[in-house]
Amino acid sequence: MAPLSRIGSLAAAATLLASTALAQGYPERQITMVVPFAAGGPTDTVGRLVAERMSEQLGQQILIENVGGAGGTLGAAQVAGAEPDGYTILLHHIGMATSETLYRELPYETTTAFAPIGLVTEVPMTIVARADFEPADIASFVAYVKENADTITMANAGIGSASHLCGMLFMQATESPIVTVPYRGAGPAMTELVGGQIDIMCDQTTNTTEQIKGGTVKAYAVTAPERLEILPDLPTTAESGLPGVEVTVWHGLYAPAGTPPEAVERLSAALQSALADPGIAEQLAELGTAPSPAEDATPAALEARLTEELARWKPIIEEAGVYAD
Ligand code: ASP
Repeated sequence: MAPLSRIGSLAAAATLLASTALAQGYPERQITMVVPFAAGGPTDTVGRLVAERMSEQLGQQILIENVGGAGGTLGAAQVAGAEPDGYTILLHHIGMATSETLYRELPYETTTAFAPIGLVTEVPMTIVARADFEPADIASFVAYVKENADTITMANAGIGSASHLCGMLFMQATESPIVTVPYRGAGPAMTELVGGQIDIMCDQTTNTTEQIKGGTVKAYAVTAPERLEILPDLPTTAESGLPGVEVTVWHGLYAPAGTPPEAVERLSAALQSALADPGIAEQLAELGTAPSPAEDATPAALEARLTEELARWKPIIEEAGVYAD
């Protein structure tokens, strides 16, 4: 009988062979991209734009599966536990970094459960309200919120979402404990904001630009360091006396850890080509953002960004003292 160590190394070699064989013909069938928020929201919008072009590159369809809930952590958990065969991927955003501190316990290990594929885009946020919300500009908005915090309702996509983070920073800056209402994504939250069932929200321009331009919501400020070309009249939070409320929502594409490196490379190359398509740049520009440059649509760049952002948000969240449990 072969010694145990030899059986072990034979098994390892067989696994390696199997994964190499699997990756060589990859992809041979449809891929599922999990978006950890409801359909119709900003992450979903980015996912659909990218998936369509990546599908063309890969010669296989990428199907979007919306797994909303718990600020994006339910969808992330689903991918962390998926078969690492390159046929399940995750489009997440800044919430991948903030959830690590916001949740004292997560069903996955943020830094080891995923194989990064690349950065996708970085999207500014806007502070918006229902169209008939009283204050006319950001100064009167801040004054009004300070006076009426306990009667104002603020939508978010759950603890760990970007809208939650932005709201948390806003409440901290204005010292106003506003009543928050969680949704499974900013898509359904936007429907209720437009319908007047909720008062205010902070969300990505990929969800708010068309509504702002159409006058179905009222906009007060943008959370980016500079004003946006597409919404030039909208002041930045910094110029409005809210320098701490600065957040841009970087999106990244991940596979479950253990996905064959060849498949990850193939996905990353498809992502880079998709982002280089002038059509996507045009569509994202209309929504106030731009695709990540090719050098950022790589596993190394996403890994570096995640590491950096985990360290950046930990002390801020700890100081705010908000946790999901
Ligand atoms: N924009 C949302 C957030 O706050 C999520 C979504 O894309 O629906 O994170």
